[in-house]
Amino acid sequence: MSGVSMSKVDGDAVPAAEGLVVLSDVNKHFGALHVLQDIDLSIARGEVVVVIGPSGSGKSTLCRTINRLESIDSGSITIDGKPLPSEGKELARLRSDVGMVFQSFNLFAHKTVLENVVLGQVKVRKKDKDEAERRARELLDRVGVGSQCDKYPAQLSGGQQQRVAIARALAMDPKVILFDEPTSALDPEMINEVLEVMQQLARDGMTMVVVTHEMGFARSAANRVVFMADGRIVEEATPDEFFSNPRSDRAKDFLSKIL
Ligand code: ADP
Ligand code: MG
Repeated sequence: MSGVSMSKVDGDAVPAAEGLVVLSDVNKHFGALHVLQDIDLSIARGEVVVVIGPSGSGKSTLCRTINRLESIDSGSITIDGKPLPSEGKELARLRSDVGMVFQSFNLFAHKTVLENVVLGQVKVRKKDKDEAERRARELLDRVGVGSQCDKYPAQLSGGQQQRVAIARALAMDPKVILFDEPTSALDPEMINEVLEVMQQLARDGMTMVVVTHEMGFARSAANRVVFMADGRIVEEATPDEFFSNPRSDRAKDFLSKIL
């Protein structure tokens, strides 16, 4: 361990070389289904990891365990060196440290766009309302929907709603954001406007885990591609390596179907 610099995080000394998000030997079952098998994955601060793989391979479940929407049966998950809490205030804080953007937007339908981005800042981060509104307007501008503040989600296009969802995640100042197929529910002409916002976040150094079938995004934004099949991580490589020279038959087969 000599030579590893230590950084202070919330009073705990964490080796800088250690991942921000670390899964060690994680296993999970749904009844008889062994949905996550011996998962080891360490995500560095500022890293963009794209997770790909066939439907049903466990990608969503993997994301959901990282912000504890799902519990695990064995192994460990740490964020910034700390194990995931299972309940109470600590769990609420974890959920705000680990942002999540879903396929289905999940905005609050009866709140305006602005209120959607203000709410968590006030309730969880305990910011005063004016400050939260300032920050919300700034973020909504940044994702290109600043002029939509007073509308309700249903009045926006899918691409606009997803950008609001990203602004809402950013408003919590998360340590990492998980994206679970964020463009899969969008009409084709709206996919790029969302991917461009994500590209910019990646360039700005946000730590991101992105489940996607958008291979162009994987090539240009990912530091690493993780390929899953049947609940296992089958391959991990840089995008260049993975797309030009997949090693496993499963990955070759998958790529031949989607490229
Ligand atoms: P992916 O996101 O890669 O398509 P998922 O993580 O959604 O895969 O699902 C992996 C497997 O776990 C699938 O077979 C799915 O049907 C099953 N599964 C997911 N969630 C549940 C659940 N809450 N209860 C039972 N089975 C589930
Ligand atoms: Mg999924």
